[in-house]
Amino acid sequence: MSAGTEPLPWTERELLLLRGGTVVTARGRELADVLVRGGTIERVGPGLEAPGAHVEDVAGLLLTPGFVDLHVHLRDPGDPESETLESGLCAAAAGGIHHVFCMANTDPVNDAPEITGALCERARAFSPIQLHPVAAVTRGLCGDALSPFRDLRAAGAGGLSNDGLPVESPRVLGDALEQAHALGLPLMVHAEDRGLAAGGSVDARVAERLGARGIPVEAEDVGTARDVAVALERGAPLHVCHVSTQGSVEIVRGARREGASVTAEATPHHLWLTYDDIPEGDADFKMNPPLRAASDVDAVIAGILDGTVTCIATDHAPHAPARKARALDEAPLGAIGLETSFAVAHTALVATGRLPLERLIHLCVDGPAAVAGIDAPALAPGAPAQINVVDTREEWTVDPGRLRSRSRNCPFKGRSVGARVVGMVCGTRWLRVPEAGATAS
Ligand SMILES: [Zn+2]
Repeated sequence: MSAGTEPLPWTERELLLLRGGTVVTARGRELADVLVRGGTIERVGPGLEAPGAHVEDVAGLLLTPGFVDLHVHLRDPGDPESETLESGLCAAAAGGIHHVFCMANTDPVNDAPEITGALCERARAFSPIQLHPVAAVTRGLCGDALSPFRDLRAAGAGGLSNDGLPVESPRVLGDALEQAHALGLPLMVHAEDRGLAAGGSVDARVAERLGARGIPVEAEDVGTARDVAVALERGAPLHVCHVSTQGSVEIVRGARREGASVTAEATPHHLWLTYDDIPEGDADFKMNPPLRAASDVDAVIAGILDGTVTCIATDHAPHAPARKARALDEAPLGAIGLETSFAVAHTALVATGRLPLERLIHLCVDGPAAVAGIDAPALAPGAPAQINVVDTREEWTVDPGRLRSRSRNCPFKGRSVGARVVGMVCGTRWLRVPEAGATAS
């Protein structure tokens, strides 16, 4: 059994003092204590005293706002072998992710308020992590019939997406964008021309070496160009999921320069790995969009640096080990990433000096919260307590067998990463995150 089946050791703390940490937000950093009373941040500053408070010594550690992940597949309902709400939210907590946006391509598809509502209710019953189901744009993720956006929002939907698939008809996409905009729901697109992608497994430039079917960069570029054009035409906001090519970064950059409300996210794997990292025949490295060239990775990072890309999202996509053990062309698409997201991004971007830590916090907190239209977790008096304790001195080796997801399809396996979320505060609850796979003390 995976560690994800064991509940995390949350404890109730009415009055909690985090002492001696370094508070890091998108705006800067300072040495400060944080006092939490009744689930709300009461004070932030040096040398705080609070008689009767439970004190956690966080000297040498970072205190960050809780992370927001716009792109997660929890496979619930329908595929408990790969993941469940329980195991997925456990993995999210271990990665410091306080807000989880879970995609609709489940079985059945989340295109109905009953399904959205049931997910929210179940999540509330066992985890302080906040779940925001992203409902399907169209009924059953296909055809022309839009899902009932208004009812879905009332049931707790945090966004709309057919992710896994593009919205095939530009007219349907345009109508959906207008309705979503009127309701204040973000619409997130998996931008892809399926004709060009042709059911491929890996980037076309390495298809021959890997003996698998190729997906050309044009599949993403054409899809992005089309979806952005529709959004511009309709004057509605659009969020582009998992940009991975130089071309699609340039399209989003151009649209934003024209003042369009187009946003984009990048995944940790597209920021760290290239197609040269794919071992022959290893489907744990098969995802959509596929791993790209080093020049594409550089282009996505350049997009982060100039503000084109404002979110890191995992696209956590678990698949049961037996299915991922197949040959490249037969295995399903996707990689897990909830528990490794911040560690990988920190290792790839901050530890290498490519990005200031404050900017990474922006990508994990403020950027995605702005897209979702939720209050960004903040380390300020009066804010709800959504806090991570992060150790950036800790090196650990990613061992998929010890992660909390029910699946093992992790392309970072065996890699050494810096930074680990070692604790978190969610409202009145405190969690000392046990090392992956370790039993709680
Ligand atoms: Zn996708």
